Amino acid sequence: MPSEKLPPAPPFTGGCECGAVRYRVLSTPAVVYACHCTICQTQSGSAFAMAMRIPFESFEMTRGTMKSFQRKADSGQTFTNSFCPDCGTRIHHRSEKRPDQLSLKPGTLDDTRWLRPTHHVFQRSALPWVVIPNDALSFETVPDDPIWLSGKPTT
Ligand SMILES: [Zn+2]
Ligand SMILES: [Zn+2]
Repeated sequence: MPSEKLPPAPPFTGGCECGAVRYRVLSTPAVVYACHCTICQTQSGSAFAMAMRIPFESFEMTRGTMKSFQRKADSGQTFTNSFCPDCGTRIHHRSEKRPDQLSLKPGTLDDTRWLRPTHHVFQRSALPWVVIPNDALSFETVPDDPIWLSGKPTT
């Protein structure tokens, strides 16, 4: 039985829905989290979005070229969001505040079975039926303290 939320060893491979964009990630994520903000609901067309923080330099394109656009998030930060120009699948976000990191959309990985968010942010706009697992930390908005990016409990 696949028990743990431990990631397999990198590299991780993934790509968009149509296959025009393929990538690989060369390092283990700092944290996998779920964001329940209204922009992530729109972006994902779903109840919430998952994100996986990785070092910027650990991301490599192996096929295709992405397009990107910029937007301001609920947190006030400006993000550059990259996606497949053919099918529109969102691949990653990069914050102007942390240009050394990427928030990869980990549902685009080839193997998603090990993904388990340890943190849930913007719980204030979570849909009422969403149940946060007992072993995950949740936040009304997003924690200021960058220590949460370690993926370890902050308390
Ligand atoms: Zn595509
Ligand atoms: Zn969000």
